[in-house]
Amino acid sequence: MKLDRALGLLREVPDFPRPGVVFRDLTPVLANPDALRAVVDALQDKIHPDTQVVAAIESRGFLLGAALGYGWRYGVVPLRKPGKLPAVAHRVSYDLEYGTATLELPADSITPGQQVVVVDDVLATGGTAAAACQLVERAGGVVTGVSVALELTALAGRDRLPGRSVHSLLAV
Ligand code: 5GP
Repeated sequence: MKLDRALGLLREVPDFPRPGVVFRDLTPVLANPDALRAVVDALQDKIHPDTQVVAAIESRGFLLGAALGYGWRYGVVPLRKPGKLPAVAHRVSYDLEYGTATLELPADSITPGQQVVVVDDVLATGGTAAAACQLVERAGGVVTGVSVALELTALAGRDRLPGRSVHSLLAV
């Protein structure tokens, strides 16, 4: 399936998670085997060839990250919300529009010098991806890029990722 048709399956959900917000839902894309393949292949096309590990952001980043890891032999490291990991190597908190959020890197996951791509479904304000990059670097990893399926340009996520190689399949 062509990428534009695959991404055409994206669903827009008004007023989720709160009034006034349009949530972009990738569920119908991931649920379609040909669309899933088109999206994962297109993500892979932009991943730096030196990359060894995918750092996948909870939770929809896990789905894309695992597919990339299996397909192209990357290791996959889950960056998790607090309270899920039995052993935490590093923790980064960051500001959201209302309140703060935290991401954690599992112990014994990334080793110094490893080349790591950060993967998620959506880049919005960029806070989550920026925290993910910080986590990788605290462990001594080298961030080769940030790859997402969808970028919400109005929220200027790239501005929070200066100097990073950011790839999105669709910018809206
Ligand atoms: P940011 O930190 O860039 O503002 O938000 C990105 C994180 O929130 C990602 O982990 C992403 O999954 C989630 N997110 C924010 N907005 C949306 C949206 O419209 N659709 C989806 N699927 N996820 C979103």
